[in-house]
Amino acid sequence: MQILDGKSLSQKIEHNIKNQVQELQTKGIKPSLAVILVGDDPASHSYVTMKAKACQRCGIESITKRLVSSISEESLLLEIENLNNDNLVHGILVQLPLPKHINTNKILEKISPKKDVDGFHPFNAGKIFYGLDSLTPATPKGIITLLKEYKIDLVGKNVVIIGASNIVGKPLAALFLNENATITLCHIYTKNLKEHTLNADILCVGVGKVNLITQDMVKEGAIVVDIGINKLESGKIVGDVDFANVSQKTSYITPVPGGVGPMTIASLLENTIKATQGNI
Ligand code: NAD
Repeated sequence: MQILDGKSLSQKIEHNIKNQVQELQTKGIKPSLAVILVGDDPASHSYVTMKAKACQRCGIESITKRLVSSISEESLLLEIENLNNDNLVHGILVQLPLPKHINTNKILEKISPKKDVDGFHPFNAGKIFYGLDSLTPATPKGIITLLKEYKIDLVGKNVVIIGASNIVGKPLAALFLNENATITLCHIYTKNLKEHTLNADILCVGVGKVNLITQDMVKEGAIVVDIGINKLESGKIVGDVDFANVSQKTSYITPVPGGVGPMTIASLLENTIKATQGNI
């Protein structure tokens, strides 16, 4: 069994980004990412801090706009409008989830597709499905980058994805399809999950449920990508896969932490550089 080491690959990517930032600066351009954080959800706060620190490490300017949870949808739309019109801001990200009184889709659609470094705008989402170059959601992008780093051939592979959200499962399915893999996308209503998972050459799990995937659900020699992030009462962070037992059967597996998480941040930084260069 080999570990898919997202942490060390992310460090390599950050090193490249640092060089790209320096090159842009010689042309008088300072890449800049604006992050909007609404309310005081502790997990969201910690993700935003991690993103800001990663920007700092690479020389990308990061602006965090902290807004109260009672902010109106209209005021939030106006904040985005201002950032869309600010030439010094290259990337805009709204940390999800948003408070219930705000229509998330409306907010995501307000972000200029050229600054949409999360790739959640329907325009960018549509481009992915057409196999066109776009700003690609960071988690799925990071997963494909990680698998390619380990020279894992995706063509014709049976890829089973559990979790079909707009930010993880659906774009991940599209990216694998673009790599000519065969996709099964499972979700809460999928019957006999195990029947599907046992068929997986590559199993990707992004649900948010501790030990959803046990050893008996995984084929011998499979590749397992654990996207889940769960905080145990002890404070320990674990994924959705029973790592200790499942890893005995896999050829490759991502750890949590140190797998998909750091690749997500690295991909966000890559998207920020792409947005700065206007290569969209
Ligand atoms: P979400 O709640 O939007 O979607 C969850 C998906 O899982 C849904 O499609 C739902 O149908 C499916 N699901 C729920 N219970 C299921 C079950 N018992 N069996 C099969 N499918 C089931 O969540 P999300 O935003 O996509 O996040 C999913 C997980 O991935 C969370 O743990 C989140 O923290 C994590 N995540 C990690 C990263 C990272 O960088 N590593 C990034 C984003 C999300």
